[in-house]
Amino acid sequence: MRCPFCGTQDTKVVDSRLVSEGAQVRRRRTCSHCQERFTTFEVAELQMPKLIKSDGSREPFDDDKLRNGIIKALEKRPVSIEAVETAITRIKEKMQATGERELPSRMTGEAVMEELQRLDQVAYVRFASVYRSFKDINEFREEIDRLESRSEAGALLAQSLKEEK
Ligand SMILES: [Zn+2]
Repeated sequence: MRCPFCGTQDTKVVDSRLVSEGAQVRRRRTCSHCQERFTTFEVAELQMPKLIKSDGSREPFDDDKLRNGIIKALEKRPVSIEAVETAITRIKEKMQATGERELPSRMTGEAVMEELQRLDQVAYVRFASVYRSFKDINEFREEIDRLESRSEAGALLAQSLKEEK
């Protein structure tokens, strides 16, 4: 790696350690010509597949859009930002693991629902009701029934949603 001070190509790594919980490698380097020291960070480049929208157009994967959608669903819910970031990483890894260069955009939505289901049932229903836009009342009822059969908390939530409708 070229020295940012004198431009010499000949630099050495003197220290290397994992930072950001292992997501980055921090390296201290020294220039063998001018003896200056500098730091570099190494992160994995996550090449995300492009998203194919329902009209067939393509758009780049957008981290912020994903994050905002999840945060909005989780508004006023007891879920930490760290848990949100972990969910985002899992969604991205899942999409990358397909090895595809393009994926239907609904895959993101489905992956978000899966993560929210794990994180918070209320957020899950909020997101699902917007995302799937529950085209008819039967679809909505199915979702409620599914929730009810899962747990007591789900049953309570289902009850309150029925009252809202
Ligand atoms: Zn130098």
